[in-house]
Amino acid sequence: MSPNSNMNFTDLGLVEPLVRAVHEHGYDTPTPIQAQAIPTILSGADLMGGAQTGTGKTAGFTLPMLQRLMAQPAVRDAKGRLPIRALILTPTRELAAQVEESVRVYGKYSKLSSMVMFGGVGMQPQIDKLRRGVDILVATPGRLLDHHQQRTLDLSHVEIFVLDEADRMLDMGFIHDIKKVLAIIPAKKQSLLFSATFSDEIKALADRLLNQPVLIEVARRNSTAELVAQKVHPVPRERKKELLAHLIKSGDWHQVLVFTRMKHGANRLTDYLNDQRISAMAIHGNKSQTARTKALADFKRGELQVLVATDIAARGIDIDQLPHVVNFELPNVPEDYVHRIGRTGRAGATGEAISLVCVDEDIFLRDIEKLIKRSIPREVVPGFEPDPNERAEPIVLGRMTIGVGGTRRNSGGGGGGGRGASPRNGGGGGGSGVRRAGGGGSASSGRASPAAPRSTGGGYGGGGRGRSGR
Ligand code: AMP
Repeated sequence: MSPNSNMNFTDLGLVEPLVRAVHEHGYDTPTPIQAQAIPTILSGADLMGGAQTGTGKTAGFTLPMLQRLMAQPAVRDAKGRLPIRALILTPTRELAAQVEESVRVYGKYSKLSSMVMFGGVGMQPQIDKLRRGVDILVATPGRLLDHHQQRTLDLSHVEIFVLDEADRMLDMGFIHDIKKVLAIIPAKKQSLLFSATFSDEIKALADRLLNQPVLIEVARRNSTAELVAQKVHPVPRERKKELLAHLIKSGDWHQVLVFTRMKHGANRLTDYLNDQRISAMAIHGNKSQTARTKALADFKRGELQVLVATDIAARGIDIDQLPHVVNFELPNVPEDYVHRIGRTGRAGATGEAISLVCVDEDIFLRDIEKLIKRSIPREVVPGFEPDPNERAEPIVLGRMTIGVGGTRRNSGGGGGGGRGASPRNGGGGGGSGVRRAGGGGSASSGRASPAAPRSTGGGYGGGGRGRSGR
């Protein structure tokens, strides 16, 4: 993220209480998405934002949203309750919690109240809080709809609606929930949609949701990846765990974020590391919310050495200047590699992204290098040399098998083009892979028709390929 050096938040039209809160939080210069999104949203226009986590997009929509709400005091209902005037939908609980925290941080000098709502925790405290009244609600779709069904939530006064990380929402199979939410909020409202990619599905959703949106795109985070030192350690399949423990111990690493493809792999690795006296915890969708929140908090405080995460669970984790990210297994969707390594080297800090790669994963590595348009240096760690006689074995992801002898073979059916359309695992029921089209490119904006938002293209997105939630 490179801030716009000759502009400040006041220039963007923000009022003093918001600028003060932003300054106190340590930011003086808006990032490119903020420089474009803030005046647009203040003007009342709908917006389609091509930006992912790490670009500063949260402040980009939170600040002008707060200002618009501050400008018009809420009208209490007949029972004297505050109506919900802004609704922000996010795909994951972690992201919901972080967005709501930003609302509180930036809205510190406003009188606006906010609340985060997600599943996996009791309904009653949420009902109690809703009764007391909130201006801004940040929610994941499932729990929001539960409340709606139980009539503990009134969304009929929503004036501003934000769909954050829309592509992830679709990947995670939330499209029906999103449609249900759209049906229960007022038709007349300001709508903002953020997505890292603009697939046909996203465009269809934008078409339905947005009214003459302004399209804003900022470079995807791979353009900042220069700050991240990337390295591949080739290693025999069965020795990855040992190598990881060796790297952590010999490098005296603390705060290491480790990615695995699947939940059970995350659990097994965590057990192994703990046996090696390396403190580690896993976060993924099967963990309770309390366990996930605790693991993340301990990790942020530096009390937990290793956090093992799957891609979906890691979405939206906002930890600045993470020194080490390790791909214990390479992702089968190359874009996920970019998301993962974006966890390090954020906000101008340098970081190291290391991938432990066995012979089975050569095909994933090739795809990643094609995507990022560079080859990642290989470095064999003495004592962990790959066995030249080791043969590639297929990688089984749920019902799908990938990568036999350097090819992708989808044994699970479906998967247009035969690329990486993995079924969802663990969540019950196979999610349909959605095709994603590349977006990105450098900053641009302009009025766009919702059906065909103007895009500068570029970037590295590549053609659509199947993918799924994990
Ligand atoms: P986001 O893309 O919203 O997840 O933000 C990514 C990170 O950038 C978060 O840690 C923010 O606190 C931080 N951030 C947001 N705005 C700025 C800014 N103007 N300057 C520096 N960092 C920022």
